[in-house]
Amino acid sequence: MTNLTQRTARIFCIANQKGGVGKTTTAINLAAGLAKHKQRVLLIDLDPQGNATMGSGINKNELAHNIYDVLIGTADIKESTVHSETGMYDVLPANRELSGAEIDLVGMDQRERQLKQAINIVADKYDFVLIDCPPTLSLLTLNGLAASHGVIIPMQCEYFALEGLSDLVNTIKRVHRNINPELSLIGLLRVMFDPRVTLQQQVSAQLEAHFGDKVFKTVVPRNVRLAEAPSHGMPGVIYDPGSRGAQAYIAFGAEVIDRVKSTTE
Ligand code: ATP
Ligand code: MG
Repeated sequence: MTNLTQRTARIFCIANQKGGVGKTTTAINLAAGLAKHKQRVLLIDLDPQGNATMGSGINKNELAHNIYDVLIGTADIKESTVHSETGMYDVLPANRELSGAEIDLVGMDQRERQLKQAINIVADKYDFVLIDCPPTLSLLTLNGLAASHGVIIPMQCEYFALEGLSDLVNTIKRVHRNINPELSLIGLLRVMFDPRVTLQQQVSAQLEAHFGDKVFKTVVPRNVRLAEAPSHGMPGVIYDPGSRGAQAYIAFGAEVIDRVKSTTE
């Protein structure tokens, strides 16, 4: 592998088609955690809910441009990107306009590659690009997968989580085969973990047995400070750096950096 490849950003999407599993919390806090480790980060909000935007302290209702304009080609990625003062990373923001993109993209050539083409323009400005996916396996998520080197899957250790996981892993394999040969599963992140719940311990052990090294060592506990932070427009990692949740995401940032180093060296 050449030096050139290493200098351009590693692009990861945070995906799980299940709703409310901690994708956005992971995206925001990993972005802020990586920034704390002196990495240059772009966080892309690929969800019309705009939660990653708001949670980074950016008002989704007062945007000059947003990711929708970038996907349909009416604005470029540089003029649409804003800086999160609280998180110390850049954000390509979203709001509910993005829900129209599904329909607009269908008629376009290379409809699943629009995001990749946009990221290519700025990839050399960043060490990491993180994409917060919506809770669907839609054309938006497909754009995220087509643009990425890898997928990080946050999941709760619940019974039905394993069932949903096989759909997502199959989708990743299909995208790898048909659209993006660079795509791989980076890892599974256990979030909202409560070690007192026996079922969670069991599912966690099953995950380790099935996925081995693909399960990140860091486990993010259920921690109310992480849930409170977005209403203050900041990542939990910044809002209460000493909290158990923040500490976990800072450790997770270091683990992701290590994992990237070990695959590019
Ligand atoms: P969606 O599918 O709607 O995009 P999501 O997968 O992005 O949801 P989040 O929005 O990150 O999930 O989290 C869902 C809820 O759980 C939020 O209210 C969030 O604050 C809370 N939450 C996430 N992680 C934790 C945690 N480790 N401890 C406590 N609460 C958490
Ligand atoms: Mg979300």
